[in-house]
Amino acid sequence: MRHILILGGTTEARQLAAALAAEPTVRVTSSLAGRVAEPRLPAGEVRVGGFGGAAGLADWLREQQVHTLIDATHPFAQVISRNAAEAAAAVHVPLLALRRPSWVPVPGDRWHEVDSLGQAAALLSGLGRRALLTTGRLGLSEFAGVTDVHLVARSVERPDPPFPPRLTVLLERGPFTLEGEREVFQEHRIDVLVTKDSGGAATAPKLAVARELGLPVVVVRRPAPPAGGTEVADVAQVLGELGLL
Ligand code: NAP
Repeated sequence: MRHILILGGTTEARQLAAALAAEPTVRVTSSLAGRVAEPRLPAGEVRVGGFGGAAGLADWLREQQVHTLIDATHPFAQVISRNAAEAAAAVHVPLLALRRPSWVPVPGDRWHEVDSLGQAAALLSGLGRRALLTTGRLGLSEFAGVTDVHLVARSVERPDPPFPPRLTVLLERGPFTLEGEREVFQEHRIDVLVTKDSGGAATAPKLAVARELGLPVVVVRRPAPPAGGTEVADVAQVLGELGLL
């Protein structure tokens, strides 16, 4: 049995776990950070919580006799990806880094690209009056000083203070549909969207709706990924690299 560890927390990680759990020659374990109280559990074995930095992850890889490490975390989860690269190199375990391609603007898009949530917050008041904020609950505090825009913040779990003064919280979990996103924009009279460049299909419909409505979108660029491992773009490529296609 080949033991494969997936660092997860994404749609692709769950899809990959389902595919690997169906392989009789593979033992698959998914690792979740534990940020969400009731996560959607992937197929196969699951462990929850941090490893204790790169050294702790390296110990886990060694003790659990992991054959291949797959970093399928979100493109903005910088620390765990760096730890994955460091730990895999330290214990000589092959690393596959599943990095969904960035979103790319198409004709009709009105994107304003920025490098941080703070820059996004600073731009907002010039762009609209009611913003759909889809950058995650942990970053909401960066928008606490936005006083002249009503923020409709969407997240899986309730965010913690400090809150911006004009706030509506939508507790929802993707994937999202085009029709559903049209309703959100209409119901909340959204005139500007704020998003990270997460990439992938699960949360892309909001970009299509902003385009349909001719609305500005503030897009937070991705941090640079760490060096190390073999980079792949989707689940099929991972399976190909593992010789399972
Ligand atoms: P992060 O800042 O890169 O990681 C912080 C610490 O959390 C890591 O050092 C590690 O602790 C622990 N950790 C993170 N992911 C883990 C995993 N899959 N399994 C075990 N421990 C993990 O992470 P983050 O940005 O907070 O993201 C946390 C999780 O949420 C990730 O699994 C990611 O895929 C998912 N997610 C993140 C975003 C986002 O925008 N950042 C969006 C959607 C989903 P130790 O050092 O103790 O090992």
